[in-house]
Amino acid sequence: MRGFDVIVIGGGHAGCEAAAAAARLGARTCLVTHKIETIGAMSCNPAIGGLGKGHLVREIDALDGLMGRIADEAGIQFRVLNRRKGPAVRGPRAQADRKRYRQAMLAALRAQPNLTLKAAAVDDLVVERGRAVGVVTDRGEILRAGAVVLTTGTFLRGLIHLGEKTWAAGRVGDAPAVALATRLDTLGLRLGRLKTGTPPRLDGRTIDWAGLDPQAGDDPAEPFSTMTTRLTAAQVYCHITRTTPAGHELIRTNLRRSPMYSGQIESTGPRYCPSIEDKVVRFADKDSHQIFLEPEGLDDLTVYPNGISTALPAEVQAELLKTIPGLEHARIVRPGYAIEYDYVDPRQLTPILELDQLPGLFLAGQVNGTTGYEEAAAQGLIAGLNAALSCAGDRTFTVDRAEGYVGVLIDDLITRGTSEPYRMFTSRAEYRLRLRADNADQRLTPRGLEIGCVGSDRAKQFGAKLHSLDHARNMLRGWTLTTSAWAKAGVDVKQDGTRRSAYDMLALPGVDMARLRPIRPDLPDDPKTVEQIEIEARYATYVDRQDADVAAFRRDEALSIPEGLVYDEIGALSREMREKLTLHRPATLGAAARIPGVTPAALTAVLVHIRRGARQAVA
Ligand code: FAD
Repeated sequence: MRGFDVIVIGGGHAGCEAAAAAARLGARTCLVTHKIETIGAMSCNPAIGGLGKGHLVREIDALDGLMGRIADEAGIQFRVLNRRKGPAVRGPRAQADRKRYRQAMLAALRAQPNLTLKAAAVDDLVVERGRAVGVVTDRGEILRAGAVVLTTGTFLRGLIHLGEKTWAAGRVGDAPAVALATRLDTLGLRLGRLKTGTPPRLDGRTIDWAGLDPQAGDDPAEPFSTMTTRLTAAQVYCHITRTTPAGHELIRTNLRRSPMYSGQIESTGPRYCPSIEDKVVRFADKDSHQIFLEPEGLDDLTVYPNGISTALPAEVQAELLKTIPGLEHARIVRPGYAIEYDYVDPRQLTPILELDQLPGLFLAGQVNGTTGYEEAAAQGLIAGLNAALSCAGDRTFTVDRAEGYVGVLIDDLITRGTSEPYRMFTSRAEYRLRLRADNADQRLTPRGLEIGCVGSDRAKQFGAKLHSLDHARNMLRGWTLTTSAWAKAGVDVKQDGTRRSAYDMLALPGVDMARLRPIRPDLPDDPKTVEQIEIEARYATYVDRQDADVAAFRRDEALSIPEGLVYDEIGALSREMREKLTLHRPATLGAAARIPGVTPAALTAVLVHIRRGARQAVA
């Protein structure tokens, strides 16, 4: 029997981040996963980041997590999505070489002090006096720990569907986790069932590339991590093709053979990543859908056709390809498929991702009802940090909705739950003007430094960056001219006779540092500082206006609801409100307000009840 502080079950995106985070805090950590060679495996698309997701990667990086640095090592095409829109909704994304990503992740974990990697299937949990204190492997080995983080992805009672065929698996080629799912049943947890799917993989040598639209990455490419100084992998093109009316007709004819439409699959799939069957049915007026042909690696000929996820029988998938320009002769290396799996209703989790019913057990990733590598990794980071903190004492680490997308993600999950695979979007963040991908480090690295999860190299780099930003801000704020003096210097501004700082001037359309430098040649010229200051100055007024909303949000968040509050004792609450609040068990009045359907009157009743309780306690 061996003892650790933290045991992490699962070496996917949540598990890697959880294990590394716990170990960074000094916890003796063990990552137990089926196979060492599938650590960091991308089950679906070979890409990291995107809209909303890129923000999460930057936040993980800000807390010295791994995903951003590993994606930079493995990235073979970098693009900032929405570049033409405002910085708040821009999403950094990288096409990744699958093998390189896995290898770089494994190397990073192997280099991490305090971390042991172990290949085994976990079949059971050790529970003592109502607390999770270890795991039991399929070989009967018991590993003990102060806390356990469960990150089993799509593996709990996973069932693959391919046309009419089904078989039990965690993903193609991997066994499902059935014993562990049964164990979660016996704990009395509310479990649900969700579905996701993946497209066929193609042999790139059999694709007719001539005539397809090539898509290059950005030049220069922008890395995810503030620690990356140089991107090392060769950069490649993706190509674009489209489905055709003939293909849509084929899908409609074979719809009954798709498990989503034959009744074989009843669970809900990701709304924003629908199968091609779903697209043809839901958007019946469209006769074509875009497909991105994404290379899976530099020395891998496999191509991932992003946009045609499907569970139609393999022979129908082959027929479908014949209707798509460029893919007429494409050979399928592996057919697409769908998978159904158990997830845990995340409303049973606390803000630190610990199970309410079973202290010591933390949950992160797809098992909590999310979809996507980035959503999984962000949760893994928070769960890993808190598992380690829980072993060391009473401290916890949370990020609120005004501080980060990771805060939005976790708050959405634990207060609202989810009935379909949850993915991140910028529209989910009400304070998105301040939660930009470009300022993730300024928002979160200081928090990471406080709890000790940020290493000395990053601390040094961050300190230097803050110093140059402060210097630039002070200089620009201190340089003030009257509006007529600005006009004389050639900067077009409304003549109201006031003095305006250069920082204020940067908020005006068409004014940037390049415009001001001829007037003040000593202005900072480091490109990163310049870009950051320009964005900041442009957003300053909007962000200031949002401050009042953030203050109100934080006031409500500060009103904690006592653990174990019996809502049935609050006479002023309707039965519906009592049921909702009892089910969700919000930690704060703010969280209660975000539960769908909870009324302002119910919130007032809860507040009055808590205050009365507090007064009685004092008396
Ligand atoms: P995973 O990456 O699944 O990792 C789970 C890990 O746990 C694995 O290493 C596994 O070996 C290990 N494990 C499980 N049970 C045990 C056990 N009992 N003992 C030891 N180890 C265990 N995401 C999208 O965003 N869009 C998509 O279109 C999409 N399609 C997908 C299609 C398929 C077929 C699959 C399988 C996944 C798809 N995903 C998609 C989801 C994406 O792969 C996941 O969101 C992401 O990998 C989740 O990360 P995770 O760490 O939670 O779990």
